[in-house]
Amino acid sequence: MRLILFGSPGVGKGTQAKIISKNLNIPHISTGDILRKAVKDQTELGKKAGEIMAMGELVPDDLMIELIKEVLTSDECKNGFILDGFPRTTVQAEALDKVFNQIGINNSILINITADEKEIIKRLNNRRACKECGHIFILQEIEGMDTCPNCGAKNSFYLRNDDKEDVIKNRLDIFNSSTLPVLGYYKNKGRVIEVNGFDTIENVNKKIVESLKVKNLYD
Ligand code: AMP
Repeated sequence: MRLILFGSPGVGKGTQAKIISKNLNIPHISTGDILRKAVKDQTELGKKAGEIMAMGELVPDDLMIELIKEVLTSDECKNGFILDGFPRTTVQAEALDKVFNQIGINNSILINITADEKEIIKRLNNRRACKECGHIFILQEIEGMDTCPNCGAKNSFYLRNDDKEDVIKNRLDIFNSSTLPVLGYYKNKGRVIEVNGFDTIENVNKKIVESLKVKNLYD
């Protein structure tokens, strides 16, 4: 299974990717998570990406393409993967097709998760990440807690810089102008499944699984 989870920031790509990854035992490749780790570890890539990410802008295509090539051609991805956060521009989509050609993949599917913009702003403002493991929680899930249920870190919850309201607006503008055209690119190739993300996590997952089953892509 080679899945691309697509949709605006906050639409639930990461949450759905984690569930499918666990159920199918294939890696969840989140470019946002990889970049946040690089920033935390202050690698060369992290030094270049940190400020750009804090402003909600996109990291340059050449850096992202190099990064994704390395990950997708690694052993970890040889039996499939779920991409979350890539491609975010048509240049990235074209480069991804080239990588897929190189590694003999011709059956990738893009799942477009949609939701209302007002709902998205509310969701992003209402989420917290763990500084240590990067896991994202809804505020209500961790109310009154001081220990991360995912990794056990103490006092590690924070509001990501790019989940603050003014940065969210910028991220949504960039999504509409630079990322949305990627959808047209995949629609032209007939490889898109549409799923309404304005529902519970369980129901969105059911809808994704059902539509993959219809295409004989989920077992
Ligand atoms: P995410 O966690 O997917 O929302 O990504 C967080 C931030 O990482 C984005 O706002 C961008 O600054 C950067 N980023 C992640 N993936 C990409 C990508 N494919 N192209 C450019 N920038 C990216």
